[in-house]
Amino acid sequence: MKTLFASLVVLVLLAWGRDVFVAGAAGGGSLPWAVRQEGLYLSGLLSVAMMSLAMFLAARPTWLEGPLGGLDRMYRTHKWAGILAVGFAALHWLIEMSSDILKAVIGREGRMPEGKYNGLLEVLRDLAEDMGEWAIYAVLAMLALTLWKRFPYRPWRFLHQAMPVLYLMLAFHAVLLAPTDYWAQPVGGLLALLLCAGVYGSVHSLAGHIGRSRQVSGTIVAVERPAADIVAVRCRLDGGWRGHRPGQFAFVTFDPKEGPHPFTIASADRGDRTISFQIKALGDYTRNLPDRLQTGQAVKVEGPYGRFDIARRNPRAQQIWIAGGIGVTPFLAWLESLQARPGEAPVADLHYCTRDREADPFVARLKSLCDALPGIRLHIHSASQGGVLDAASMVAEKDSARLTEVWFCGPQGLAESLKKGLQASWRGKFHFHQEAFEMR
Ligand SMILES: Cc1cc2nc3c(=O)[nH]c(=O)nc-3n(C[C@H](O)[C@H](O)[C@H](O)COP(=O)(O)OP(=O)(O)OC[C@H]3O[C@@H](n4cnc5c(N)ncnc54)[C@H](O)[C@@H]3O)c2cc1C
Repeated sequence: MKTLFASLVVLVLLAWGRDVFVAGAAGGGSLPWAVRQEGLYLSGLLSVAMMSLAMFLAARPTWLEGPLGGLDRMYRTHKWAGILAVGFAALHWLIEMSSDILKAVIGREGRMPEGKYNGLLEVLRDLAEDMGEWAIYAVLAMLALTLWKRFPYRPWRFLHQAMPVLYLMLAFHAVLLAPTDYWAQPVGGLLALLLCAGVYGSVHSLAGHIGRSRQVSGTIVAVERPAADIVAVRCRLDGGWRGHRPGQFAFVTFDPKEGPHPFTIASADRGDRTISFQIKALGDYTRNLPDRLQTGQAVKVEGPYGRFDIARRNPRAQQIWIAGGIGVTPFLAWLESLQARPGEAPVADLHYCTRDREADPFVARLKSLCDALPGIRLHIHSASQGGVLDAASMVAEKDSARLTEVWFCGPQGLAESLKKGLQASWRGKFHFHQEAFEMR
């Protein structure tokens, strides 16, 4: 993600720098006014670049799952691109507002010459200025709601649907107010490319086409309640389902009014188009889900997505697999997929962290799956019995000088503390693969 952002910033800087320093676009005014003018353009360009990236990623281009590490990470990149875009937009707005200060301090003398526009173009440019300003206020408000985690997800998602419209307003602002000389320079080419990518994402989103090519219908064939806060659902999908890799997830719509929610496919692909989900009551919708589901009910599934795939493990690396609570679901799919060919199962330590092993619905299932796989050592860490997993115990148990892969799915707090602990004490190289159960 950081490399992608850095590359985009460098590209914008190069294109803008060429226009300023090679084509000499900043001439004609005094230094403070020229700096203000170019600061305005550069912050605008950077904001458009980040916002276009965010909009393009919102269209779920599956071919980018590989380079970006899966759809969950793609959404994190989308979120950070959005945050950076709003930051640059706010800077752009502040620079625009700075003209009054400059006038007061150094006077109007030395102002950059303004282009002459009239007729329809002048009207459109005025409109573009206003649109840019309204859109900036709206995206700032959206950012505040996104970062304010206590704001409920459902109204947030409803409001977030306005983003494509706000993007189109900002694109209109950029096209009309970008300096005319840009369109004959590489910076104009880059701006046009970015706007095309962003407009594609916006239109795709407004037309309701996101993920449509991966949507299939199906029917619920079984509903079980393995624990008070878990519902297990098995679905049979229609012919369009292309199968899945163990560890992938899908967006599942049980109720069209509620819309899709992401859940990991907690079973292996048996080639019969049946898939199952283990869903924990983590919020309002999932809490009431068991009462709303019944056998024979229609379901819509979009996917599969994700790169938390056992086939991606490095066969030379020591394997540590860590599941926290409902984060066990991708590992259930991994272990199930290995049952048919236990000889191919890698040597791995699977740590399952649960609140109480006696009441946990997955402990027995994990044991029976691991019994058939001699290479997999199962460790149950039950908090109520004092069993807490920490980085120090992992370092003590394993050869910390060896190349190691940690595959983690569970609470963010546990991921961070383990990663921090391992970074401090692991002697060799380790890769931390994480499936994020959060997209906002
Ligand atoms: C890749 C992935 C795989 C997941 N796999 C599982 C699984 O196997 N089992 C399981 O129990 N849970 C899983 N989750 C979590 C599950 O999606 C949320 O717990 C569920 O959507 C919460 O909905 P709610 O309305 O009950 O809770 P809320 O309180 O409304 O939401 C809690 C959080 O869940 C997320 N969320 C809610 N609705 C959506 C939505 N429509 N789209 C995206 N995110 C949403 C948001 O981050 C929100 O802050 C997974 C999440 C992701 C991203």
